[in-house]
Amino acid sequence: MNSTPPPANSQLQALASDLARKQSLVVITGAGISAESGISTFRGIDGYWARFNPQELASPEGFARDPELVWRWYDERRRQILTAQPNPGHRAIAELEKHFPEFLLITQNVDGLHAQASSKKLIEIHGSIWRVRCMRSGQEWENREVYEQFPVKCRCGALLRPAVLWFGESYQPSLISRAQKAVNSAEAVLVIGTSGQVWIVSGLLAQARQNALTAEFNLEQTETSHSVNYLILGPSGQTLPQLLSELTQLSP
Ligand SMILES: [Zn+2]
Repeated sequence: MNSTPPPANSQLQALASDLARKQSLVVITGAGISAESGISTFRGIDGYWARFNPQELASPEGFARDPELVWRWYDERRRQILTAQPNPGHRAIAELEKHFPEFLLITQNVDGLHAQASSKKLIEIHGSIWRVRCMRSGQEWENREVYEQFPVKCRCGALLRPAVLWFGESYQPSLISRAQKAVNSAEAVLVIGTSGQVWIVSGLLAQARQNALTAEFNLEQTETSHSVNYLILGPSGQTLPQLLSELTQLSP
């Protein structure tokens, strides 16, 4: 990560002075921001789990076939995430929230690090690894327990499952409409640590381009980079605090 040169300050300054005049901001984040906290991406897991197809581990069919295997996988993810901390990029986003009367953070990450960094106006569009859902009642609640027995069961005797979006499952319509509404009325949209290959991101970004200022923060160019107003290359743990400090100088 050290090989990426810091972005030109002038570009961040220009973006900050554009943002200083805006009243509403939407931030969309993906795996890239969590990678800087040491959380491996779904496909970046090695060792024992590398032999499994992600769709076997994260799908309703996979869970029906072998709930114990799926729970052991999620248990490993939970243990990895438990030791991770929000990085300066997460914290800068939580601070950005205070600069805009209208703000929404839409994250694809299920690790809970944005909430841990004190982001409040937040949609976890793929759910959270720290929530569980009873397979019988459909009820969900937060649970940070380190489990000892797998598969994990509810007090009612039914299986519990992680309350995350699996392959082949639909987004919650209420979350999607809240995200779309925010993007429709936003004056600026920042996309951070995600390639826009995910349907939801490319859709929201296409919507944003119609009337909002758009900026992408990534380590490298992606296929959406050509279509945004600002492309800020570099670790978001560095570029976002820089943006925040520029913005704070303009509108403290
Ligand atoms: Zn139950």
